[in-house]
Amino acid sequence: MTIFSRIIAGEIPCHRVYEDAHVLAFLDIGPLSDGHLLVIPKEAKAQLDQLSDESAAAIGRVLPRLARAVMQATGATAYNILQNNGAAAHQAVMHVHFHIIPKLGSAGLGVGWNAGSLDAARAKELVSRMQAAL
Ligand code: 5GP
Repeated sequence: MTIFSRIIAGEIPCHRVYEDAHVLAFLDIGPLSDGHLLVIPKEAKAQLDQLSDESAAAIGRVLPRLARAVMQATGATAYNILQNNGAAAHQAVMHVHFHIIPKLGSAGLGVGWNAGSLDAARAKELVSRMQAAL
């Protein structure tokens, strides 16, 4: 059981912003900026790819509304949505979560973006493999 399951169960306190049958949103205990919000499914799955369509839809339904609330509460006009999957991708809590991180001056998410270039043959192969997997 992760710490987020214990928060959902009410065993550990949180600063709750939103809750419905499938979703809970609360303030991150280690904010990158003022208003840093975590949005989690109540379904206990580690990674996004494991999530049921029902939970995924419930999160998708409320994410824009929660982003608007974060913007209005903090005055931020820019923000990042971050969703890490796997320890190698900086996931620390193995329960699916979306970060909503306001960009407030220099505070917020720092992004490293080492862009490569897309090879046409590789692109064709990837599209075909992904479509076969869907
Ligand atoms: P990750 O690196 O897994 O995407 O991020 C996990 C996030 O959960 C971190 O930003 C961390 O501050 C937050 N977090 C970890 N434990 C707790 C907790 O007990 N309460 C709250 N509110 N946030 C937590």
